[in-house]
Amino acid sequence: MLRSALLAASRSPQVRTVVEKFPPTQAIVKRFVAGETLQQGIDATAELVASGRRVTLDHLGEDTADAAQAAGTAEAYEHLLAALEETGLAANAEVSVKLSAVGQFLPADGEKIALENARRICEAAAAAGTTVTLDMEDHTTTDSTLEIARELRADFPWLGVVLQAYLRRTEADCRDLAHAGSRVRLCKGAYKEPESVAFQGKEQVDLAYVRALKVLMGGEGYPMIASHDPRMVRIAGQLAEWNKRDADSFEYQMLYGIRPEEQLRLAEEGNTMRVYLPYGQEWYGYFMRRLAERPANLTFFLRAMATR
Ligand code: FAD
Repeated sequence: MLRSALLAASRSPQVRTVVEKFPPTQAIVKRFVAGETLQQGIDATAELVASGRRVTLDHLGEDTADAAQAAGTAEAYEHLLAALEETGLAANAEVSVKLSAVGQFLPADGEKIALENARRICEAAAAAGTTVTLDMEDHTTTDSTLEIARELRADFPWLGVVLQAYLRRTEADCRDLAHAGSRVRLCKGAYKEPESVAFQGKEQVDLAYVRALKVLMGGEGYPMIASHDPRMVRIAGQLAEWNKRDADSFEYQMLYGIRPEEQLRLAEEGNTMRVYLPYGQEWYGYFMRRLAERPANLTFFLRAMATR
């Protein structure tokens, strides 16, 4: 119930105003978000890369309400990618993009606008010598996101896409996408979804994650294992052994601020470990989804508010 309430709050403008007004929020947000500026994103990336980890940067934003804002987000990614190239970080850092931040939900021609903006970002990534992964949002966007990814892959075959294990359709989507050259990030899924389309309990979601992982690890593509769950990490390692996968044929991914010691351990063991690093002013939705994933984070947050 708490998870549902937090996920509902993540999309409420009223709750957003209240949360953003509390100064202690800033300190807690810092655990999950590199900062509000491009420079803070670049500095945090440099630190992670120096420690042997790779990075995927997310210029925070979602549910963009007008075309100018969507184009502004694409431009922000162009600046980010130019900065990654200038600082020599592009070899170890790519970007992650939410299509809703570049126009997917706009009432008129949303998908077309999102495709054009995502294409601009892919062109900038190609020029910088790095890659792009499309995040996955709620289930109403899955078909549209996969279709946009398919169109972009004709020109940018390295484009990655996220699949969410909690969706009932995902095992089949994994089979479609487990081909050579295909980069798929598998996560459990972070949105509130109806039972008709998504598994609900943790056990069921974990089992679905393992089924999807088996398809990806047994396939020809490049799986990106996005989970902090020690069981999923262990199973991925076993599947890599069984499928005789080299360490450079798949990677582990975790969110900035979550299980950093485990991130370092995996990197030190010779695995590719990539950290999803968000930065920017639009941190509210991202932050609330992280609270929903772990009640302990919420307790920490409420205590900080209460002690003011
Ligand atoms: P869980 O079962 O949730 O957690 C397992 C353990 O991990 C917990 O017991 C705890 O020790 C630790 N942990 C998990 N979450 C937290 C937290 N917030 N704070 C502290 N500890 C925690 N979801 C989408 O829907 N779309 C996306 O595009 C997407 N992209 C992602 C990209 C990356 C690189 C990662 C790592 C996650 C992404 N997610 C995305 C989020 C994902 O779907 C899950 O909500 C999130 O990763 C938690 O699931 P879990 O696999 O870590 O397992």
